[in-house]
Amino acid sequence: MGKYVDSIVTNVEGFFSGIFGGSVPEGIIPRPSLGVVANTQSIGTVVNSVSNALPSMGKTVTHVVRRGETLSNIASMHGVDYKDIAKANGITNPNNIYVGQRLKIPNSTKTPTPKPSPKPPSTIKPIADETKIDSKGVGCEKCYCYRDFTVDEVKKIVEALKKSEGYALPNLLFEEKNCILNKSDRTYERFTIELNKTFAKYKINTCIRKAHFLAQAYLETARFTSTKELGSIDNYLKKKSYYPYYGRGLMQLTWSSNYLKYKNNSNIDCITNPNIIDSNLENSVDSAGWFWEHGSAWGGLNKRADNDDIYKINIGVNGGFNGFKERITYIKKLIILMKIKNCKNLKLKKDKTLGIYKYSTSSIRNTNYGKTYKTKFESYDD
Ligand SMILES: [Zn+2]
Repeated sequence: MGKYVDSIVTNVEGFFSGIFGGSVPEGIIPRPSLGVVANTQSIGTVVNSVSNALPSMGKTVTHVVRRGETLSNIASMHGVDYKDIAKANGITNPNNIYVGQRLKIPNSTKTPTPKPSPKPPSTIKPIADETKIDSKGVGCEKCYCYRDFTVDEVKKIVEALKKSEGYALPNLLFEEKNCILNKSDRTYERFTIELNKTFAKYKINTCIRKAHFLAQAYLETARFTSTKELGSIDNYLKKKSYYPYYGRGLMQLTWSSNYLKYKNNSNIDCITNPNIIDSNLENSVDSAGWFWEHGSAWGGLNKRADNDDIYKINIGVNGGFNGFKERITYIKKLIILMKIKNCKNLKLKKDKTLGIYKYSTSSIRNTNYGKTYKTKFESYDD
């Protein structure tokens, strides 16, 4: 994992030194992305070339995880409880299994009938692209503009996103082992309260603004599993040039310059004690709202969200192309889940169609950054 992640982060840093002659420009700061780490960890992107061992009745057998499998469907294949598999393999987070992993299955009672092995993909592709969101959407019939989310709405939206990616336990929040939030903060009740406070404070107050914020936060927090950048402190984070100001909070605030700006704006002393962000749900969410409206290279991202301009938002949040495709996938899903096409406050520019993304309709084309990387942006076009 470390190798893969390192190469991505290095590429992003290298990519910036390429454009800007070695110094990172004010405002545009490449940031690590939890989401990409999670892809290699919990979703699995490696082609499974190992065949499953044959089981014998009621005995411990070995199961090699295939693409698209979850702990719960592996458990049902073998007629056992997923908790027993987790226990037998020392898995504390049931979402963290990966393709090619060899799992001990205690007391298997069934001959497994695994899905036919898919053809090896020519490129690495997240599971997110292979599953569909129910086109009916979730939540209530009312639009989400200028009102608080209910706990039930947040839960339905987050669970639908996680289910669409094959999470065995989509109801869990901030369950990663590295996450230092208090247990009492890892609930939908607390999450809803903090989201509503932050949405009101930073004017993330319409359906489309909320959807774009959630799409980015979902990616940045490795699908709402952690408020802290993944990777071990000693073997990974300490080696980063931004240590100890590594990714924290819902938008993964990174680099001392951003921490300092946030401290000056919030009076939260995250310079002396950076853990004050990721150990506290209120600060995790508030720092993300602050970054959204005041911290990005483009200034406020609400107005980018108003025109459904995902290319501009992706660069504003990440500073590069880290997780670019997944971010597009998530906003498309959220547009359906939150029924945004029914929102009466949606006012897109004439050339823009909701949920259809093209370089030619993004304001990124008017920036130097967009001009430099025109071809790369166009490779993501619908
Ligand atoms: Zn609305």
